[in-house]
Amino acid sequence: MAEEKKSLNFIEQIIEEDLKNGLPQEKLRFRFPPEPNGYLHIGHAASICLNFGLGLKYKAPVNLRFDDTNPAKEEQEYVDAIKKDIAWLGFKWDKELYASDYFQQLYDWAVEMIKKGKAYVDEQPQEKIIEQRGTPTTPGIESPYRNRPANESLDLLERMNKGELEEGAMVLRAKIDMSSPNMHMRDPIMYRILHKAHHRTDDKWKIYPMYDWTHGQSDYLEQVSHSLCTLEFKSHRPLYEWFIEQVYRGGLKPKQREFARRNLSYTVMSKRKLLQLVEEGHVKGWDDPRMPTISGLRRRGYTPEAIINFSELSGISKRENVTDVALLEFAAREHLNKVAPRRMAVLNPVKLIIDNYPEGQTEYLKAENNPEDDNAGYREIPFARELYIEREDFKENANRKFFRLTLGKEVRLKNAYIIKGESVVKDENGEITEIHATYDPLSKSGSGTPESKRKVKGTLHWVTAQHSIPAEIRIYDRLFLDEAPDGHKDRNFLEFLNPDSLQIDRKARLEPNLQDAKPGDRFQFTRLGYFVVDPDTKPGHLVFNRTVTLRDTWNKKK
Ligand code: ATP
Ligand code: MG
Repeated sequence: MAEEKKSLNFIEQIIEEDLKNGLPQEKLRFRFPPEPNGYLHIGHAASICLNFGLGLKYKAPVNLRFDDTNPAKEEQEYVDAIKKDIAWLGFKWDKELYASDYFQQLYDWAVEMIKKGKAYVDEQPQEKIIEQRGTPTTPGIESPYRNRPANESLDLLERMNKGELEEGAMVLRAKIDMSSPNMHMRDPIMYRILHKAHHRTDDKWKIYPMYDWTHGQSDYLEQVSHSLCTLEFKSHRPLYEWFIEQVYRGGLKPKQREFARRNLSYTVMSKRKLLQLVEEGHVKGWDDPRMPTISGLRRRGYTPEAIINFSELSGISKRENVTDVALLEFAAREHLNKVAPRRMAVLNPVKLIIDNYPEGQTEYLKAENNPEDDNAGYREIPFARELYIEREDFKENANRKFFRLTLGKEVRLKNAYIIKGESVVKDENGEITEIHATYDPLSKSGSGTPESKRKVKGTLHWVTAQHSIPAEIRIYDRLFLDEAPDGHKDRNFLEFLNPDSLQIDRKARLEPNLQDAKPGDRFQFTRLGYFVVDPDTKPGHLVFNRTVTLRDTWNKKK
């Protein structure tokens, strides 16, 4: 996709407008502001691609700012995971910053606001404060502490922060307008008491600033030009602007603009729910390949390119919408098709014996690594008398539409010869234990003989019995059976968990070239799909995850 052909999204239009109205391009600055209370998910990827994408487009710096104002839920583990995921996606942040670095500055500004009569300490219980807020159509009630002298508030704020007061005993509120039609302007809380150690400031602070009192001020301190957030903050925008007015000392005033959250079908995206899946053991961890997290998608075999392309395809929108997970899978196939080397693997093996092939002989056949990539070259794969093919690729009594192996008909073995089914051996239960076939020695793939050019209806993948290696294969299905598991009023999202979302297969046999595959290596298994080596792999025990099938089979199943 050529850059100039793409039409501008509405955020880019806003920026272009600002540039036209005199904002110098070198003043453009963006940030991605995760709260380190969980791992990043595919929804965050929308915000990452948007912010870092703007940075690349306008050659502007993009800060990574951790919004770490709630020590009750935040941890260093999450900080590390977030950095790892953004770097893996291939984006480079300018500065690594923390809202907690501004705690002192925010405190000083709060003191100033008290002195100017713009903030006060309220000693009422939380329920009372909520009750007095009123409703969008009825004005709120002013707190009896609203007009207390500034020095009283200053003294109490200090005591709140010294740890002299219980959690919930008092709060600092901005003095704005209890009858504003915008509920966020009805004397919002700026500080609450929390007797919790913070992962960076330890026990220095006993009060912590609220999101609204932190985010805009951090943007202002960093001179972020466009602060992009999701739609639920639209109604906070007047407050965002009001707070910046209170502390303004020149320089650029950041602009908050909102875009729609990315939602994805067949999954949940709230960090609280993802944490619940992890903590209750419904999945094996944040990076379980069924999770919509970046780390889960990575372990599942997704490439950064696929995730970024998915972001392009799903776009940035002004209105809430749900993106079909099939689009994400499409993006994975599209990129993996170009980059994943082809290998052969048989997941459900049955023995195939070529009766007229010399016993004890092995020949090495040339096989293309990737027909989509001219530079991928060739590999050699062993061929011998005893092979494995997929059990499903043979039928004793097949109708005319069955283009795989049956008795008396020819099929091609991929990269090898044309064979004809001759007979079967069964065990006492009637299950086939061996298929016998004959091959045409003149039909070798790529040999150029008339026999090799003979048209046969089917081509099967295979491995040899002697050289193939065992592997554990993990096949994943959707984690939820419902399109919108958290969209039901009176049902818990966990009720929609798919009990068969993981199937483990230990019978698989792989071509020996996969012997040295390393965790993270991705392959296309001929006719089966894309697979990636899982980090659970140990010497002598290969574990693969199926990333995605070659075609969209889910829609057919429905
Ligand atoms: P959650 O509700 O999942 O906990 P959050 O919005 O609280 O998400 P943050 O860590 O605060 O998570 O998000 C960091 C940035 O990513 C914010 O700017 C937020 O707006 C954006 N973001 C989070 N979820 C999505 C999403 N589903 N789609 C687009 N942007 C998102
Ligand atoms: Mg948040």
